[in-house]
Amino acid sequence: MAVAGEWFLPQWRSWDTSYREDRKVLSPTTNRPRSLVDISFHYCPGCGHGIIHRLVAEVIDELGIQGQTIGVASVGCSVHTLSYFDLDMQQAAHGRAPAVATGIKRVLPKQIVFTYQGDGDLGAIGIGEMFHATARGEKITVIYVNNAVYGMTGGQMAPTTLIGQATSTTPDGRLPDRDGFPIKVAELVSMIDGSAFVARTSVHNPVNVARTKKAIRMAFQAQMNRLGLGLVEVLSPCPTNWHLSPSEAMKWIENVMIKSFPLGIMKSLER
Ligand code: SF4
Repeated sequence: MAVAGEWFLPQWRSWDTSYREDRKVLSPTTNRPRSLVDISFHYCPGCGHGIIHRLVAEVIDELGIQGQTIGVASVGCSVHTLSYFDLDMQQAAHGRAPAVATGIKRVLPKQIVFTYQGDGDLGAIGIGEMFHATARGEKITVIYVNNAVYGMTGGQMAPTTLIGQATSTTPDGRLPDRDGFPIKVAELVSMIDGSAFVARTSVHNPVNVARTKKAIRMAFQAQMNRLGLGLVEVLSPCPTNWHLSPSEAMKWIENVMIKSFPLGIMKSLER
């Protein structure tokens, strides 16, 4: 699957466990994770943020670290993340979540610190923060949600927008000669020595939701074992700005987006 990835990234491996085995990591959906506040999400119908919030909360509950975990929210549709997690949360300026997380972790090294960022936040204004936090080997976890557009501000082209993808600022589709190429954050972070765990996952169907949860757990464990920075890039639907129904958005990830952003574990120092 990952032709270029295999050449550049010798540790790359696609998921190799069975559907049945993957499903075992999912919790019963009737129980609200303790690490989530009991309020409704404001996200659009079919948005992936709610799924990813739940997975992060389930992992924190299962690792027993709710009382020692601090989250850093970013700017974008997920700016209200800090309202949804029943954790100590801090808001960062646009793109600066890894720097804020660095400060928290260095002052409180026994706490578990994670950032929750979108592609407009992390992949554009914040990409320098991301690379330098990785190069410093910060013991933090980064949950990076890639939906290939700026969601909150109206669906403009993001650094991750696919070639040919129509957005509000590229209505005729992203053209390489004019608009450049999508940035593959996970591949780049995996090539920096300070990263300990890097994966790209998706939430477009149950088996990939389960794999996303596994990856989030492994990224937190890399921090708990003080191995280095962990990043999970999650492909996530934005039906509103893709102008698709929720089910069409899931199919678009499967049929189109994964071809540009292949899934798999790119680096795991624990293996
Ligand atoms: S605009 Fe997109 S990313 Fe933002 S809440 Fe709506 S569906 Fe989710």
